[in-house]
Amino acid sequence: MNIVLMGPPGAGKGTQAKLIAQKWNIPHISTGDMLREAVKSGTELGRRVEEILDKGELVTDEVMKDVVKNRLRKEDTSSGFILDGYPRTRRQASHLDGTLDKLERSLTSVILVNASEQEVVDRISNRRICTDCGAVYNLISLRPKKDMVCDNCGVRLIQRSDDEAETVRMRYRLYMEKTAPIIEHYRRDSKLFIVDGSEPLKTVTTRIFDYLEKT
Ligand code: AMP
Repeated sequence: MNIVLMGPPGAGKGTQAKLIAQKWNIPHISTGDMLREAVKSGTELGRRVEEILDKGELVTDEVMKDVVKNRLRKEDTSSGFILDGYPRTRRQASHLDGTLDKLERSLTSVILVNASEQEVVDRISNRRICTDCGAVYNLISLRPKKDMVCDNCGVRLIQRSDDEAETVRMRYRLYMEKTAPIIEHYRRDSKLFIVDGSEPLKTVTTRIFDYLEKT
């Protein structure tokens, strides 16, 4: 099962991607997580992208091409993968086609989790994350058991620097301008499944699982 999960920032795709990865036992490849990890561990890639991530801008297509190519070459993707946050531009979509061709693989499905700008701003400004295990919470819909502390590791939760309202609006506009056009690319292949991300988390999961079970 080779899946691409698309959607505006804050539509809940990261949460859904984790659930899909668990259920089908395939790796969850989040390019955002990979880049944040690189920043945290101070690698050369991390130093190159740190400022871009903070501003909520996009890392160049060429850099992303290598990041994704190297990841998809790893053995654990042989029975499938779920790509979350890639591709984000037309060029990235064509790079991905090329990489998969070389690996003699193709996409099984593309899932789009949709949400409006206002929904996204409301949701992201309530998002808090654990810097230790990466768990994601929402102060309204997915509260931690203890106030502002991670359920898994007891670490204090923080707000990501690119989750502030103004940056979120900018990221949403960037999504509409650069990423939304590639939806057409996948619609033509008839592999696209669209789900309304403003529905409750569990409903969205059920719709996606039902769809994947049929494919
Ligand atoms: P995300 O967690 O997917 O929202 O990604 C966080 C940040 O990582 C984005 O705001 C970008 O700066 C960068 N990033 C992640 N994926 C990509 C990508 N496919 N192309 C360019 N930049 C990316």
